[in-house]
Formats: sequence, C-alpha cells, structure tokens
Amino acid sequence: MSESSKIVVLAGGIGAAKLINGLIVVLPEENFQIIVNTGDDIELFGLKICPDLDIITYNIAGIVDKNKGWGFENDNFNCLNILKKYYDFNWFNIGDKDAATHIFRTDLMNKGISKSEATKTICNKLGVKCEIIPMTDTWVETHIITPRGDIHFEEYFIKYNTNILVKDVIFNGIDKAEPVKGVLKKIEKAKKIIICPSNPIVSIKPILEVKGIRDTLKKVKNKVIGVCPLIKGAPVKGPTDKLMKALNLEVSAFGVAKYYADFLGHFIIDKQDKKIKPQIEKLGIKTYTYDTLMKNLQKKVALAKYIINLNI
Ligand code: GDP
Repeated sequence: MSESSKIVVLAGGIGAAKLINGLIVVLPEENFQIIVNTGDDIELFGLKICPDLDIITYNIAGIVDKNKGWGFENDNFNCLNILKKYYDFNWFNIGDKDAATHIFRTDLMNKGISKSEATKTICNKLGVKCEIIPMTDTWVETHIITPRGDIHFEEYFIKYNTNILVKDVIFNGIDKAEPVKGVLKKIEKAKKIIICPSNPIVSIKPILEVKGIRDTLKKVKNKVIGVCPLIKGAPVKGPTDKLMKALNLEVSAFGVAKYYADFLGHFIIDKQDKKIKPQIEKLGIKTYTYDTLMKNLQKKVALAKYIINLNI
C-alpha cells in the first residue's frame, strides 16, 4: 500500500482511542499511521511506561479494559501490591498483564532498541496491523507547574486527580526531540491527517512541538482534519478545560480552533456547537457539525465514516 493512500492520525490516549476504534472498522488497519504522544511517559520501578502508546495499542489489539479505558481487560494487581510495599509508593496503577508490556519494552530499550522499534515489536506480538509511532524516540516528559512545584503530568492526573492549581505546562526534553525517521514524509504524503479529539495541551501540543511536525502540517493544511475534544465548552472527560483555562485559552470549540488555526484546514465540531461555526470559519477553517459524542461503537463508526468520506 503506497504512503499516499494512507491516513496519518495524531493521537493522545482515551479520546483518540475511541475514534481509532471507529476508524479501523471503516478501513483496514493497514491504512493508518498513528503518531502518539509520549509526553505522559514515566519511569517507575525501573520500568519505562508509555500510557498513551499502550492505550492505543491495547485498543486496536482488542485487549483493553473497556471500563477503565486503559490497561488489559481481566487484569489483577498482585504485582503492584507487592511493589507498593517495597517502594512505599501508592499512586500509580499497573496491572499484572500490563506490567509484562512495561518489562518487555524496558528490556528491549535497555538493549539499545529505540522506543519506536520496541513499539513495532509489541504491535507485531499483539497482532496490531496499524503503524503506531511514538512522537519521538528521545525522552520527553510533560510537567505541570503548580504552586507546590513542578510535578510530572501523571502525578497531576492520578495522584492529585487534577485538583491542583496549574500555573504552566512544560515539556522537558522537547528542544532535542526529533521525529521518528520518515514521519515528516508520511505526513506530507498522507491522503488525510486526522487530529483526534484529544487534550490539545498535553496530548496534541507535545506532538506538534517535535522538530518539524507543526511546520510540515502547515504545508499540508488542506489535508488536516481536526475533531473537537470539547462539546458545548466542556470536555467529555479529563482536564482539558482546566489546562486551557490555565493557559488563558478560551474553553470552547472556537478556543481549540484558534489554537490549531495555523495548521488546521478542516474542523469537525459537535452539532450542539453549530452556533459558533461561522465564528470558526472566520479563522479560515472549513467547519462541519456532526454528533461527536462517541458513546458506543456505532457512534465511533459513524463519526469515523463521516471523516473518511469527507470530500476535501
Ligand atoms: P487522555 O484520555 O486523558 O489520555 O486524553 P486524550 O488526550 O485522549 O483526550 C481527552 C480529551 O478527549 C478530552 O478533551 C475529552 O473531552 C475528549 N473526548 C473523550 N471522549 C470524547 C468523545 O466521545 N467525543 C469528543 N468530541 N471528545 C471526546
């Protein structure tokens, strides 16, 4: 299959996985090249943990815990319970089966294999046929600046359950982050590029800041289609509103459109936001309204079909 008939997808975690679940029903998995945020990656217990990469991989492999949206289905936490005793640590959750992925990835990476190659191997072993590509092979960590100091994004998200004031968001290591070899070409050649309904600040922005990615997207703006992660000015889940507010951005579909305006050609907003469509179009972005609340597989597939069939 030629690169020019493929679709590039920019993805965070759970919001992105919902749309991807629909996309792979509409077209065979081989059609998709998914560039995934790795800013949430964290090292704990000596293990290299990549939450968004694993959420996307497990979803496509059909083994994800559907209630939680992350980790393996039917998992146990026996290993974690002992780790908690040893490390006197209690806020991060890793299931026993999930731990096997982290052990395998860490083992490969400790042997000098890159994160992207390790991801490829994990995908092959789990039967995933999409190309899942980390945004970079270098280590980038998203940190949240709070009045209590600088904390890892996962600490903000899990330990504090996002209930701590955000002063700023930074991506440690981003200055040195190069895209994985061939990724810019894939973006240039793709038939379409889909920006998933993911958190714009901590899932999409780190990907955009990897050297060359934002500039390449600008060059092919007419092929870039975003799906808004806010409906009636509110996230379906997660701290998108809190983080946008902290960065003085308007918490609305318009605010997201403005944030993406330099590289976004097309934007799908929820039908409940149709009133702000003209305001977004004034930014030079072709705007469409659709039911974007992906409550079940049927709705995921319907939105995916709408995007795939969009005549751009
Ligand atoms: P994570 O799941 O926390 O890793 O974060 P993501 O970056 O994947 O996505 C969180 C964003 O996805 C939030 O802004 C949610 O509002 C958005 N989201 C989740 N589910 C849906 C949905 O069904 N429809 C739309 N439009 N957005 C969604």
